[in-house]
Amino acid sequence: MNVQYYSTRSTGNPVLASQAILKGLSDDGGLFVPDHIPTLEKSMAELAGQTYQETALDVMKLFLTDFTEEELKHCIESAYDSKFDTEVIAPLVEADGAYYLELFHGATIAFKDMALSILPHLMITAARKNQIRNDIVILTATSGDTGKAALAGFADVKGTKIIVFYPKNGVSPIQEKQMVTQKGDNTFVVGIHGNFDDAQTGVKNIFNDRAFAKQMEEGGFQFSSANSINIGRLVPQIVYYVYSYAQLLHSGKIADGEKINVVVPTGNFGNILAAHYAKQMGVPIEKLICASNENKVLFDFFETGVYDRNREFHLTSSPSMDILISSNLERLIYEITGRNAEENAKLMKSLTEKGVYEISPEMKEKLKEFFGGFATQQETADQIRKVYEDCGYILDTHTAVASSVYEKYVAKTADHTPCVIASTASPFKFTRSVMTAIDASYDKMSDFELVDELSKLGNVKIPAAIEEIKSAPVRHDTVCEKDEMPKVIREFLGL
Ligand SMILES: *Cc1c(COP(=O)(O)O)cnc(C)c1O
Repeated sequence: MNVQYYSTRSTGNPVLASQAILKGLSDDGGLFVPDHIPTLEKSMAELAGQTYQETALDVMKLFLTDFTEEELKHCIESAYDSKFDTEVIAPLVEADGAYYLELFHGATIAFKDMALSILPHLMITAARKNQIRNDIVILTATSGDTGKAALAGFADVKGTKIIVFYPKNGVSPIQEKQMVTQKGDNTFVVGIHGNFDDAQTGVKNIFNDRAFAKQMEEGGFQFSSANSINIGRLVPQIVYYVYSYAQLLHSGKIADGEKINVVVPTGNFGNILAAHYAKQMGVPIEKLICASNENKVLFDFFETGVYDRNREFHLTSSPSMDILISSNLERLIYEITGRNAEENAKLMKSLTEKGVYEISPEMKEKLKEFFGGFATQQETADQIRKVYEDCGYILDTHTAVASSVYEKYVAKTADHTPCVIASTASPFKFTRSVMTAIDASYDKMSDFELVDELSKLGNVKIPAAIEEIKSAPVRHDTVCEKDEMPKVIREFLGL
């Protein structure tokens, strides 16, 4: 039987997976959620000997039920190939008392590649299944990493165009260089004067603009989303949590059925939600530890049950987590209302109108498997230095937030359950913050000198993604105000 996808904000009108992937967001502004979370068909022992690609098929076919197995296999094989610099795709590295699940071995060296290398294939397949003739226009707001990973995934994919908005002064120099040098006639990159939330709100408003949609239709276009609200991104992210457990089991680090904890450096709540879904599928996960930086809206939420975005926004050394509206949290809120769309819609309305909502004590009771923590920039830098000095392993700033929160968690709870830490970016992507954390005197060097130095210090090869941009020409230089986003889209599409 097909898994059906419902909006988090209204009852009725379910769609199939392929339609949910094409639409991205429901017409009522809600997010699509599966009607139930399927359980894994194979035991962990059976999964333990499998490749990443085989595991991906076993997980994804349970959610994307209107895709044939052949179609999914094709998508998986096109995505998880030599674009990744390791055959295991997502290796686990033991360091300093935890297992780092390295999710940064794809084309743009951040974990977004795990989902965005497959999304274009899922989307093209979905378009074919639904007899779509329009060009699909991917509209994306990015805090730095999604943008490049989506650009890389969709560049020159026939029948698609991709438009990326990023906060002009809110991404790292290497992130910006990666985006503005993007090749492909169907790509368009725009910096906005504003922060990530402004970009994301702008994109959401455009998605909800009926008049704009009509104009698009007349021009032979339709929008879709590559943001983590798309279930076509969420589902592929469940795979590596299943895979990491299977790997731990396979290598004898844990016994079959033994619980693990998972720590996720969190921004939009997509990655940790995928871990929560993996748990519901049957992976023996105990605690889901949600790590925030100084934008600790989620930490406060798990402490108090109040989600309050009315606060100062901090630009930190972990920019991909500089987010005050964690969109995917809505899926969890919907779940803990007992899948009550009306109740959820009320809370989300309050978030839009007042910037705040409070969940009931009964709802809060259902969040016990989550532990919220945060790390300041100083703690993050200290953790990079500490782990490096302890064992020579160099963390990126986002992973270091998670690592620091994990240490605080253990100090507070004395819980020594084996722990997987999602390692979401290569340190080469945030070279300056990483290197100056190890030794402040590195600040004198240029970004690319630091790249060479990091390579020597960590004894790791410079990733191809970094080598490429050293000499690549800038191809995108559009900058706009946040209220000009619709205008620049019309210009790009010739509407
Ligand atoms: C996107 C991103 C995150 C946050 O992930 P969410 O799914 O948005 O919570 C963390 N670290 C890095 C490096 C990222 O690119």
